[in-house]
Amino acid sequence: MEHFYTIQGEGSNTGRAAYFIRLGGCDVGCVWCDVKESWDIEPHPKMTLDEILEEVLEFGAKLCVITGGEPALFNLEPLTALLRNNGIETAIETSGTRELTGKWDTVCFSPKKFKLPVESIYKQANELKVIVYHPSDLQWADEHAEKVNSNCLLYLQPEWSREEEMLPIIIDHVKRSPRWRISLQTHKYMNIP
Ligand code: SF4
Repeated sequence: MEHFYTIQGEGSNTGRAAYFIRLGGCDVGCVWCDVKESWDIEPHPKMTLDEILEEVLEFGAKLCVITGGEPALFNLEPLTALLRNNGIETAIETSGTRELTGKWDTVCFSPKKFKLPVESIYKQANELKVIVYHPSDLQWADEHAEKVNSNCLLYLQPEWSREEEMLPIIIDHVKRSPRWRISLQTHKYMNIP
């Protein structure tokens, strides 16, 4: 759908320069989705793996974030192998609704209420990032935290349009349950993509 070199604003790679590759296609249907134009696969430009690699190398990126849409709709083995063979770290942002393919340095699992995740993602996740749109999402987040592996970092992130209302509730929750950390969409504060 689009690709650009920017700063990762969320999660454990926050603040790092990263080349983003946003793949078109998503069947999860979150009501608050801020990239609804990604849902349909067809309208987006197609690039070969070599063309993508050329762009990433041209910018000197050391980290590539594959996002969507729902990137796990696709076989990501060839893309991640190519990137890693060229010394580039790979990170994925996924709702976990499909079996994951590819080799990953960072698996960011962001479950959505609109489609249940597959069981395998709980073992694979390096980060659990729950978007908080409503106070009841905190209990839902805790249920997921019980299921992920013990090394998985736990993040609560306010949904952007509800940040003012959700942030105080998240802060309280993290103080009461310090296994959680707060993730903010810092790229939005910096006015970068
Ligand atoms: Fe949008 Fe992501 Fe939800 Fe798909 S999983 S609908 S891209 S927020």
